[in-house]
Amino acid sequence: MSVSWDRGVLVVGAGIGGLTLALQLHRVGVPFRVIEAAPWLEAIGVGVNILPHASRELHELGLGDALDRVAIRTREARYYNRFGQAVHTEPLGAAAGYRWPQYSIHRGDLQGILLDALSARAGTGSVQLGTRLVGIEQHERGVRAAVETRSGPATITADVVVGCDGVHSAVRRELHPGASGPVYSGCTMWRGATLWPPFLGGAALVRAGWLASGKMVIYPIRDDVDGQGNQLINWVAEIETPQRSDRSWNREGSIDDIIEPFSDWNFDWLDVPGLMRATGTILEYPMVDQEPLERWTSGRATLLGDAAHPMVPRGSNGAGQAILDTRALARALAEADDPAEALLDYESQRREATSRVVLQNRRNPPDAILREVYERTGDRPFSHIEDVMPAAERERLLESYRAVAGYSLDDLARGGGGT
Ligand SMILES: Cc1cc2nc3c(=O)[nH]c(=O)nc-3n(C[C@H](O)[C@H](O)[C@H](O)COP(=O)(O)OP(=O)(O)OC[C@H]3O[C@@H](n4cnc5c(N)ncnc54)[C@H](O)[C@@H]3O)c2cc1C
Repeated sequence: MSVSWDRGVLVVGAGIGGLTLALQLHRVGVPFRVIEAAPWLEAIGVGVNILPHASRELHELGLGDALDRVAIRTREARYYNRFGQAVHTEPLGAAAGYRWPQYSIHRGDLQGILLDALSARAGTGSVQLGTRLVGIEQHERGVRAAVETRSGPATITADVVVGCDGVHSAVRRELHPGASGPVYSGCTMWRGATLWPPFLGGAALVRAGWLASGKMVIYPIRDDVDGQGNQLINWVAEIETPQRSDRSWNREGSIDDIIEPFSDWNFDWLDVPGLMRATGTILEYPMVDQEPLERWTSGRATLLGDAAHPMVPRGSNGAGQAILDTRALARALAEADDPAEALLDYESQRREATSRVVLQNRRNPPDAILREVYERTGDRPFSHIEDVMPAAERERLLESYRAVAGYSLDDLARGGGGT
């Protein structure tokens, strides 16, 4: 067994949270090393949305130009019932008056931007691929991490360890061996990305239908991918069903399992079944979260992103809250003399804030507007949306989500938000 004596922060996981944390640590001058279980980073997954508070962090890390080169600046959210009737439209990002745009981006593109920036700034050796953390042992002055590498087991010693290792976090298991497991929300999602002509102006995020009879989220994530103006369109179809599978971001699903509820969704703005049928790989994922933890930190080890606060992927906050965690943690580590105190300071800024988002995603995410319309109309077409759910009530619901998730316009304009 080899032992490498390496001080600083050991970042476990080179996903969205781990890579952003590494960039933040590099910016504030705290030494670090990232380890990643995967032997190489593949563009698995489909789209994620970066809300204005997370976009602010990425812009402050100097990634604005790179994002503008590959992502879509999302200009509006549109809500429809399953008959294609317009329920609500809200401007997003810069179009809503935020200083920072909202982006829709392929998760692999975002990971690539972060990795390229980190390699350019801190060197390609700052991320060690093919290195899986399997255990941690704390002592008075640091942490010894047991890892599996391509050439066998090894130990890495660091001042602190941060588990950015996602929903199956090994660090979380070490810190909370008896914690409860995933909580199934009652529905499963199928996801895909398809080459398709722009719809609704080419920068809209559509939420349509409701879970009992089928719900979709559809938005473009890459522009003009073929030189003929076609975009890569991300779609997510959700339906209530008993749990079918465990959570794996890579599980392939079948169009036959999901097409039926959407087979007549042929609207004048989009042929939804056509889009779904034209998709190469479809991924299936159960909508699960976990009960918020009562603590993230133990001595010199803590959690960040999905490892700390796995949430139902609804409301565009999974990646965003991980990005916000990184700012708080890097600042705390840069300012404190005692690393263990820095971790507690970070946790005090972020744990309750993110627990509220986990619970809000369960109860009242932005698409709760569609639940209200579904219930009030008995899943039938309406004559006037104002008679079903007045605009002021719709806006109140959306604003309460923004406030909990930390991106209300007023907060961000005052320089706050994000916690
Ligand atoms: C392959 C993949 C595809 C995804 N696709 C989507 C998607 O399509 N839509 C969506 O909304 N969200 C997706 N997500 C989740 C999304 O990235 C996260 O919700 C969010 O970005 C928070 O990021 P995170 O850094 O906390 O976790 P993640 O982005 O999940 O990153 C965790 C990283 O830790 C690594 N890791 C895990 N265990 C260990 C270990 N023991 N030692 C070392 N490294 C370890 C993983 O390989 C991964 O790279 C996906 C995640 C993954 C890993």
